[in-house]
Amino acid sequence: MAMRFGCPPLHRRRSGYVVVPCPLPPLNLRSVAYHEAGHAALQGALGCRVTRCFATGSEGGLSEAFCPGAEHARIENAGMNKFPLQLEQDLICWMAAVSFAGVQAEMLMHGLPFKGMFQLQDSDTEHANQCLMRVFTSDSDRKSASGYSQELARAALMHLWPAVEAIAEILIAYGEIDNDEVVAALHLVEDVKEVGRFYATEALWQCSLKTMGEPW
Ligand SMILES: [Zn+2]
Repeated sequence: MAMRFGCPPLHRRRSGYVVVPCPLPPLNLRSVAYHEAGHAALQGALGCRVTRCFATGSEGGLSEAFCPGAEHARIENAGMNKFPLQLEQDLICWMAAVSFAGVQAEMLMHGLPFKGMFQLQDSDTEHANQCLMRVFTSDSDRKSASGYSQELARAALMHLWPAVEAIAEILIAYGEIDNDEVVAALHLVEDVKEVGRFYATEALWQCSLKTMGEPW
């Protein structure tokens, strides 16, 4: 698909009428777009394919991803125990970071500092906690893992920021983005692989099958 960078007309003039795609104030759409862009950028950087990503100013948005290799494995035998504990913990924290990346991207876009972990009652936080629960069994461990994952998300997004902006601008202008465009946006960042280091592999996703297909 043709790249859309650099052409984000929010309002198109047609026959004297101004067509405004979004019925709500731009700030709202902008927040949603950056939120979804945060998820999508991290999903892409970690080696998965963004299957659906959209943002609206009226009904929120969604960023869904698919991991290569997932179809060859099953939840029951994804076998967390075949990974060393440290790696399991790292992998799960990255998974949680994908969930937390939405809110963190919004905060970065608004210039808000990271002042400690959030405990929001939203589906992203719930999703992250479900991931973390698989490895961090005690409440206190899970809590610190949650804070760590949020910082991880923020650090990764800062590294990926040019891509996050490009993805968000496409979402603002067109309401949706496809995987090719996410991949192209990630080319704006040097050393994308630094973000996931060795996690951008099937292993990450075999570890996290429970989350497959669930929207962030
Ligand atoms: Zn989200």
